Amino acid sequence: MTDETIFAEWREAMVIEQIERRGIRDPRVLEAFRRIPRHEFVPPALRSRAYDDGPLPIGKGQTISQPFIVALMTSLLQLKGDEKVLEVGTGSGYQAAILSLLAKWVYTIERYDVLARRAEATFKRLGLKNITVICGDGTLGYPEVAPYQGIIVTAAAAAPPPPLLEQLDEGGRLVIPIGDYLGQILQVWTKSGGRVDYEDILPVSFVPLRGRYGWSPQAWERYEENDFEADE
Ligand code: SAM
Repeated sequence: MTDETIFAEWREAMVIEQIERRGIRDPRVLEAFRRIPRHEFVPPALRSRAYDDGPLPIGKGQTISQPFIVALMTSLLQLKGDEKVLEVGTGSGYQAAILSLLAKWVYTIERYDVLARRAEATFKRLGLKNITVICGDGTLGYPEVAPYQGIIVTAAAAAPPPPLLEQLDEGGRLVIPIGDYLGQILQVWTKSGGRVDYEDILPVSFVPLRGRYGWSPQAWERYEENDFEADE
């Protein structure tokens, strides 16, 4: 058996056992996870673990998220295929690649140039042409082509960055983990009639969102240090 055949088998098992069995049933979402080769988005030394049920390191202290969480966040956007989507936190590019099969165009912002360039090279290698990679502070959004029908933030914020709520289209959905070092709640924010409202989905654990409307290293690390004292 070739490596690609083995990866395809592991990928099918990931879709059935980690995603479908946990309640993600949208056939378009499941098909996207069958088509995107996750092993292309992890460091070569970790390829044998690419279809494991958890996050993996990708360099710069960052991670590619657990497949189920990527699938859940994707399905919460409720994409039909004609949307413009903004992702904050490109990381490996895996989430953006999945979204590119479900939306019209994906704009994805990463603060580390090395990760942005690597993700861009991966998209090119896989022939994914409807993704624009931007290197910069994603908490400011990307007003040049706003509004977006879907926005997804793949790092933990204390609150939704105001520019992202502004750049959300009427009827659009923003999926974002809200919380601190001790943990976050995945939330879906919707805009209708100019009003925004949110719904809590489930507890998650993400690396911090940085930048203008993100966590400062001092605030996040202070939390980390005071971890146990806070529990007393
Ligand atoms: N979506 C990614 C994937 O599929 O691999 C995983 C993202 S990783 C959990 C979070 C990413 O957010 C990191 O790559 C981090 O550098 C990035 N990030 C954090 N704050 C950011 C900001 N203000 N603007 C852009 N990217 C940011």
